[in-house]
Amino acid sequence: MANIEHLRRFVQDMTRAVEKFGHDEPTMLREGRKLLAGLIARDDWLPEEFAQSHPDTYRQYLLYCDPLERFSVVSFVWGPGHTTPVHDHTVWGLVGVMRGAEKCEEFERPGDKQPMRKTGEHLIEPGGIDAVSPTVGDIHTVSNALADRPSISIHVYGANIGAVRRHVYVPETGEIKSFVSGYSNSVIPNLWDRSAEMRAG
Ligand code: FE
Repeated sequence: MANIEHLRRFVQDMTRAVEKFGHDEPTMLREGRKLLAGLIARDDWLPEEFAQSHPDTYRQYLLYCDPLERFSVVSFVWGPGHTTPVHDHTVWGLVGVMRGAEKCEEFERPGDKQPMRKTGEHLIEPGGIDAVSPTVGDIHTVSNALADRPSISIHVYGANIGAVRRHVYVPETGEIKSFVSGYSNSVIPNLWDRSAEMRAG
């Protein structure tokens, strides 16, 4: 049984954090990073349905969206060989690896119709967290760094990320296309069945 209470606590703490710091991105990223570190420090809470990889491409499962869309929590599940296109977010985001390992590559776009520059590349291992935003660097790709098994990261964004209009890029030409990512699931985890603890008194 997934220990859903751990996710519920995270959602509660994030709700308090966006209430307090939602309009102050540096503080929000700092506080969100601490909370996400606590969430991914243990791996006993993600229900199996939201940890399934797909043979063709990565999955993005919405775990929770704030009613006012001030933040969303998503599990990304990468099979071997899976990678995102070069993309941006347009809002702050935190990417924390919980299982496996992921390769992140950052890009810069010098201007229209110019090839993009790759500015960095690094590996994130379990417990590691990356930040993205238009102020701290927003354009990257993420790939599964493992060839033989899935990797899972938990992402938090400063919006209902699946409904945000953002961009994918062709790095060779600098071409931009608008996209809205959506989610792989139509049903989200039930954070709110607390009957077992209530019955236990
Ligand atoms: Fe991303």
